Amino acid sequence: MIVIMEPQADQSQIERVVDRLKEFGFDTHISAGVERTIIGAIGQKNELQVQQIEAMQGVERILPILQPFKLASREFRPERSQVKVGDVVFGGTHIPVIAGPCAVESEEQMLAAAQAVKDAGAHILRGGAYKPRTSPYAFQGLAERGLEILAWAGKQVGLPVVTEVLNPRDVERVAEYSDMLQIGARNMQNFTLLREVGMSRRPVLLKRGLSATISEWLQAADYIISGGNHNVVLCERGIRTFETETRNTFDLSAVAAVHELSHLPIVADPSHGTGKWRYVTPMARAAVAAGADGLLIEVHPNPEQALSDGPQSLRPEVFAQLMQEVRRVAEAVGRSI
Ligand code: PEP
Ligand code: MN
Repeated sequence: MIVIMEPQADQSQIERVVDRLKEFGFDTHISAGVERTIIGAIGQKNELQVQQIEAMQGVERILPILQPFKLASREFRPERSQVKVGDVVFGGTHIPVIAGPCAVESEEQMLAAAQAVKDAGAHILRGGAYKPRTSPYAFQGLAERGLEILAWAGKQVGLPVVTEVLNPRDVERVAEYSDMLQIGARNMQNFTLLREVGMSRRPVLLKRGLSATISEWLQAADYIISGGNHNVVLCERGIRTFETETRNTFDLSAVAAVHELSHLPIVADPSHGTGKWRYVTPMARAAVAAGADGLLIEVHPNPEQALSDGPQSLRPEVFAQLMQEVRRVAEAVGRSI
C-alpha cells in the first residue's frame, strides 16, 4: 500500500509514520515529491493496521497498489523519475543517446568508436566486457581488461560509460569501472543479480527480457528499487515473436505503456530490437516520436570485422546521420537530443 502524506506534513510526522509501519513489519520506501511525500509500505497488511496508520497526524490517505509491481508503479510515484549518470539525465526533456560497440575488442577499436560517437553527439559510451553469448564458443568478451579499456576510452573522449554485468560476484568490480550498470535481457529475471545491483549505488539500465511481459519487467525493476537503488532506467530491446525477418520484434508500444504504468525512464534500443543496421535509423526516429527517454545504438568503426553484433552495428558516418535525423524528430515533439 502507499501512504500519502498531507502537503503540509512535517519531517517528524513522516518519521513517526515510517516507524509505525516498521513496527507492523512493513518495508518502507519514501518518495519525496515536489508537493508531498509518499511512503510505500511493502508487506502483509491487516485492516486494523491500515486504520491506525490512517488516523496518524499528517496522513492524508492510504491507497492499495493493485499492480503486482509496487515501487516502479506510477501509483507509488505520480511524477516521472529522473535518473542521473554523471551530468546526463534520463527522464527529462533532453534525450540522451548511449552509443558504442556491442563488445570491447581492443584499445584501437574502442578509442575509434568512442571518438566517433562523441563527435556525432552521443552522451554515454557503451561496450560489453562480459558478453552473454548464445553459443559458448562465441567471443565471450575481454572481461576485466575490457572494463579497463572501456573506462580508459570514456576518459579519453570525456564520456561516462555503461557496461553489462553478468555475474553477481562482479557487480562491485564493474561498478568501479563504469558509471552505469547494464542488466542484459537474458538476466532480467536473474534475481540474485538484481538484488546485488539493488545494493549498488550505480544507476542501472534494465533491459527487457527476451520474452518478458511489461509487468514482469517492472517487477524486476522492483527487485532493484527494493534494495535501495532507485536509479533504474528501463530499456526496450525487442521481444521474441514468430517473426524472423527481424532479430526481435521491437515493441515500441512498451514506451507508451511504461509511461502510463511507471515513473521510470525508458530507453529504446533499435539495434537489438531489429538486428539489421538498415532498420536502426528509422526505428530510432520512431522511438523518439513515441516518447522514448533515451536511445541505445550499437556503433562499430568496422562492422564487418566486429566480434559480435556486426550486422546491426552502424558505421560512424551512418550514426552521425542518425543523430541529425533523431534531433529533428525530438524538436518536433518538444524535446532535444
Ligand atoms: C547488448 O547490449 O549488447 C546486449 C547483449 O543486449 P541484450 O541483453 O538486449 O541482448
Ligand atoms: Mn549487442
